[in-house]
Amino acid sequence: MNAIYDGFNDRTPDAIVQRLGQTLAQGLEKQNKPRFLFRADDIGVPGHNFTRMMELFLEYQVPLCLAVVPTWLTRQRWEALAPFADKGGDLFCWHQHGWRHMNYEVQGKKQEFGPGRPVGDIQNDLAKGKQRLSAVLNHRFAPFFTPPWNRCTRETMAALVNLGFEGISRSAGSHPLPPDQLKEMSVHVDLHTRKDRSPDLGWQALFNEFAQGMESGVCGIMLHHMRMDQGAFLFLESLLRQVAGQTRIEVATFSTLAGKGGFNAIP
Ligand SMILES: [Zn+2]
Repeated sequence: MNAIYDGFNDRTPDAIVQRLGQTLAQGLEKQNKPRFLFRADDIGVPGHNFTRMMELFLEYQVPLCLAVVPTWLTRQRWEALAPFADKGGDLFCWHQHGWRHMNYEVQGKKQEFGPGRPVGDIQNDLAKGKQRLSAVLNHRFAPFFTPPWNRCTRETMAALVNLGFEGISRSAGSHPLPPDQLKEMSVHVDLHTRKDRSPDLGWQALFNEFAQGMESGVCGIMLHHMRMDQGAFLFLESLLRQVAGQTRIEVATFSTLAGKGGFNAIP
């Protein structure tokens, strides 16, 4: 799972809370008004971890972007998720993830929207996904796209523009760059799919990701609720508490970032 959270029992260790506080304080010294962006992937199936994650964001009133896998979301499942959407309102930005969340690449890194597929198939999956999510989520659906594994081709992004999508979210520094019509809203911090060689190295890397994200102006934080254990929930709560308690940090969603304009390329 995530070795960095090993040994967390009933609370986040003081040393970690302090380092987090220092990292945020240093980020605030360099950026007067840094923004944060939280993105939760692989959404569509209700369950204990989903509920626990949503309750934390509601409790601290922190906005969250949710990447929904269209084929995982049935009307029946949406009935179980919808109460959170109702409670959160504009706090939550429900947007599109990979149609089936499948890897089609036979070599190299995993991709659902990579070079290993005919462009027509990719266009179809994007269109079907948008249609399904619009039908089920209705006015809750926001026209943004998170590609599985944070990568996709240039042709995918051109198709997104044709379908009326306004933005895409991948890892910071991703290539190819999006067309001008598509705003880039990157993630820097990976909370739950890390592959660190040791917890110490992991924490060092994680706090570096926070620092880099804050320096960019919009610090994107990626969550995978299905991979979360008790320690991961404890740390998330510590993070939300500090972010919510820091008035100089504004938490954005894709919608609020897009609405403000002028963010053609957020690094
Ligand atoms: Zn995913």
